[in-house]
Amino acid sequence: METVVSGIRPTGNLHLGNYFGAVKSFVKMQNEYNCYFFIADWHSLTTHPHPENIRRSVKTILAEYLACGIDPEKATIYIQSDVREVAELYLYLNMNAYLGELERVTSFKDKVRSQPNNVNAGLLTYPSLMAADIIIHKAVKVPVGKDQEQNMEMARKFARRFNTIYGIEYFSEPASFHLSEKAVKVPGLDGSGKMGKSEGNAIYLVDDEKTIRKKVMKAVTDSGPTEPNSEKPEAIINLFSLMDIVSTPDTYAYFNDKYNSCEICYGDMKKQLAEDINAFCTPIRERILEIAADEAYMEKVARMGAEKATESAAKTLREVREIIGFKAY
Ligand code: AMP
Repeated sequence: METVVSGIRPTGNLHLGNYFGAVKSFVKMQNEYNCYFFIADWHSLTTHPHPENIRRSVKTILAEYLACGIDPEKATIYIQSDVREVAELYLYLNMNAYLGELERVTSFKDKVRSQPNNVNAGLLTYPSLMAADIIIHKAVKVPVGKDQEQNMEMARKFARRFNTIYGIEYFSEPASFHLSEKAVKVPGLDGSGKMGKSEGNAIYLVDDEKTIRKKVMKAVTDSGPTEPNSEKPEAIINLFSLMDIVSTPDTYAYFNDKYNSCEICYGDMKKQLAEDINAFCTPIRERILEIAADEAYMEKVARMGAEKATESAAKTLREVREIIGFKAY
């Protein structure tokens, strides 16, 4: 059975962006692949979170993974920092990672611009830690959103480079996986690019109905088209893209026709969108609250995941150490 790995950083609650970009694939893939889904708490250290926030956020994501339908009996769910072998592989990959290529990564350049006072080595080496996360389990498929394409390219490059340096076909190159033909990019409703916590525009799975309605009704729109079949401006494309993701094809077609005939009422469209998001989020929110209250169950899941993931990672590390020339114990 082929192996799949992916993770989410515990920097807040799951939102529609990381659900439709990644977690939805996790739920489907667990039935067909040998899956490892982790909570990327080492990655989250680049923003220097308070220990209490880390503890809380890790538990939150764990409860949300489970509430979304990831089944710990089918997939291995683990916390990244529980598997120390990942850090060792990260060290080895960093020895073969070059400053120039790491500095050229778009998400790194964005961070340099957005947080010039905290350009730390963890941000720079984010792609080599991500590569270690993936290849430590010899994953061949990685369900990720569109924003991760460049990091996936780097992961393939690091896997290839390791093989070339040591003259052995050891790691295979992991491929990005998307449920549909194209990579998903869930837009924000503030007229900007993607939905995300750091973008401040996220609709969270745990948001209650009133909050969701309020967020959707605030979505940026314009005064509407005046010419039939006009091209849509970015904010309107975003509104339609989100509808395409959460609503039925008929609903999408209805509002799209209204737009094309210049009869669109954005208020109605937003009301429908909020209703459809609520229909999707409400049952998940109820499960999140139920699971989060059961600390003993969550602990058991994390312990079981740590054991299974460590076993797989330790096997790779034993082989990697031997390939590199270290004494294998
Ligand atoms: P993050 O929440 O940034 O740790 O990302 C976790 C996963 O969710 C990655 O696979 C991302 O590609 C995906 N993701 C996050 N935000 C979005 C978005 N707005 N659209 C599509 N995928 C996303």
